[in-house]
Amino acid sequence: MAVDLSHVPHVVELAERTAAFVREVVVPEEERHDGVAARGGEAMRVRLQAAAKQAGVFAPHVAAEYGGQALDMRGRAAVFEEAGWSLFGPLALNVAAPDEGNMHLLEFVASRAQKERYLRPLALGEIRSCFAMTEPAPGAGSDPAALSTRAVRVPGGWRIDGRKWFITGADGAAFAICMARTSGEPGDRGGATMFLVDADNPGMKIVRHLDTLDESLYGGHCEVDFDGCVVPDEAVLGEVDQGYDYAQVRLGPARMTHCMRWLGIARRAQEIALVRASERRLFGSRLGDLGMVQGMIADSEIDMAAARALTLQACWELDKGHSASQSTSIAKAFTAEAVWRVVDRALQICGALGVSGDVLLSRFLREVRPFRVYDGPTETHRWAIARRALRTATR
Ligand SMILES: Cc1cc2nc3c(=O)[nH]c(=O)nc-3n(C[C@H](O)[C@H](O)[C@H](O)COP(=O)(O)OP(=O)(O)OC[C@H]3O[C@@H](n4cnc5c(N)ncnc54)[C@H](O)[C@@H]3O)c2cc1C
Repeated sequence: MAVDLSHVPHVVELAERTAAFVREVVVPEEERHDGVAARGGEAMRVRLQAAAKQAGVFAPHVAAEYGGQALDMRGRAAVFEEAGWSLFGPLALNVAAPDEGNMHLLEFVASRAQKERYLRPLALGEIRSCFAMTEPAPGAGSDPAALSTRAVRVPGGWRIDGRKWFITGADGAAFAICMARTSGEPGDRGGATMFLVDADNPGMKIVRHLDTLDESLYGGHCEVDFDGCVVPDEAVLGEVDQGYDYAQVRLGPARMTHCMRWLGIARRAQEIALVRASERRLFGSRLGDLGMVQGMIADSEIDMAAARALTLQACWELDKGHSASQSTSIAKAFTAEAVWRVVDRALQICGALGVSGDVLLSRFLREVRPFRVYDGPTETHRWAIARRALRTATR
């Protein structure tokens, strides 16, 4: 299958402007807050997003009617990688998880009224959101069919009961998209529905902030309780019992946008390592003239080039309207591992400096590690990739 990996001129131009904006405006904020966005508070988010609007790089993924530039997935690949050069870049452009994935889902599935109420302010950066699917064991995780949060019909709406955890951005979100079981039993493949739950609903409560390896995402990762959480019929997103299909609408592209953003951090880590390898002298030569260091540099170049190509291939399939389940799994599994390797090698090349807070490498390492777990752990994708491959062999 022939795949055209080049970008159209307006995407190239937007990617260049994004790169300049991130280096000039965003990186200084990131360095001031040691790469932890929450330390900048809501004021920093508002300030960075206002600057991104001014620079014409804000929310490039959403439709023009919601203030965006309607980039397709290939266009996002070029621009989001540049945004991802800084841990704060995606936040500044309003393309950070989970809001970016939620905008994508709402554009595809929400009714006109739901779009006005939730998508428009989200796309403008006036509010934040979260996506509540994962549950503590034995509930939904790698196996979404284990979903145990229930929604039952009550007069005029639904009552949701269940416990979610690792809900990124829940603290401070204006609403949650909550997956709940509306038919069947945990273990069944279908029977899930998505609900739009306003944060001021008395039945939805943040129980605690989880203490996690990563810290850069706004609103942290929270445990959230749905206890007698009553929502009206209009809170159903799309059709009842179609939640797993809609999850695919969100998860395939969201996996790819994570790959794009983390590829930006991998490139930044490699650049830090290249500068160090060019300047540091030991054993009578430059660090970068030593063969084993060259090996690490080369392996990281290969990892990044391969991750970018696989991501673009999957994006190309998504843009063509294909399900792209195999190619998004391959790209996600490879990129999550590759990005981790690249950042780890960069830290190794920098020695003790890499471990210190004088460069942001140890922060990057902490931030990229969970990507091997969320959006499907590497093992889940490898399992799914092998099963699909075996199916083609037995056709
Ligand atoms: C930082 C972070 C942010 C997150 N944000 C959100 C969010 O906003 N909303 C949300 O709903 N969820 C979120 N999650 C949850 C995430 O989606 C889950 O962690 C993920 O789906 C894995 O589920 P689990 O943690 O329950 O692991 P489990 O399902 O318990 O899996 C544990 C391990 O089993 C192994 N495994 C899995 N499948 C297979 C297989 N087929 N074969 C062999 N081994 C396998 C893997 O090594 C896996 O890591 C987040 C997680 C993290 C770490």
